[in-house]
Amino acid sequence: MPPLSGGIFLLITCTIVFLNPHEFVKVTIGLWTTLAAPIVIYLLCHPQELATPRGIDLMVTLVPAMGMNIALILLYSRLQDAIRQLDQERFHLKEISERDALTGVYNRRAGEQRLQEFERSRQEIGLILCDIDHFKQVNDRHGHLIGDQVLQAVTQCVQTHLRKQDILMRWGGEEFLIVIIGENAQELMLLAERLRSKIASQPIPTVGNVTASFGVALQQPLENLIQLFDRTDQALYQAKAAGRNQVMLS
Ligand code: GH3
Ligand code: MG
Ligand code: MG
Repeated sequence: MPPLSGGIFLLITCTIVFLNPHEFVKVTIGLWTTLAAPIVIYLLCHPQELATPRGIDLMVTLVPAMGMNIALILLYSRLQDAIRQLDQERFHLKEISERDALTGVYNRRAGEQRLQEFERSRQEIGLILCDIDHFKQVNDRHGHLIGDQVLQAVTQCVQTHLRKQDILMRWGGEEFLIVIIGENAQELMLLAERLRSKIASQPIPTVGNVTASFGVALQQPLENLIQLFDRTDQALYQAKAAGRNQVMLS
């Protein structure tokens, strides 16, 4: 039998140095099992070896190590289960806290966080603010439940016509904010115009066709988020004032 015990410690030291903690536990357990198990089995099958100092040394070192190893494997798999469950719960809680309960898109709080991230990374963005026209009348005529369904249908319609990188959030009652990254004003206008015409042409059960107005603004160099949002809001206001169901560029 080659002298192994020093080698095991060397390998374990290497795993501590070069691997991350997660892999370290796995590799250490694997190493101990593959190295110690055959030796212990060999010693148990050859009792004469136990009469030698080296046999005794190996037995005294490896048997407790094997026991510890088995305990570690059990503990580790339990820990892994617990960590997985905690991760799922954390993900679920994050989803709940970031999503609007009615429409499933980002809520305003999560949206503001994303906007601040863009500001910190100095990435220039474009904003599209969308507001459903005469939505109060929908509620008054058909009730809040149907109003909710309209909000869901409009969100769905907008979401399906956005690209993956575009971020949609419910900004307020019947107002939605879309953050667009890296586009020019013409592209922004085209996208907003496409959204406007899709909403206007898609009848909603019970209510029929609804329309929405859009304010569009592209971030200027050195312009902060508040100024950008303010311009987008003003453009939306102009779209409303100009008769609704239209897109205005700031
Ligand atoms: P405008 O064309 O000028 O935007 O008129 P509007 O009627 O759409 O706007 P206004 O701000 O007067 O009314 C918005 C309405 O949206 C009032 C509010 O009751 C309704 N609302 C806000 N949140 C919800 C919601 O979650 N569900 C429903 N059903 N209605 C909502
Ligand atoms: Mg409205
Ligand atoms: Mg509004």
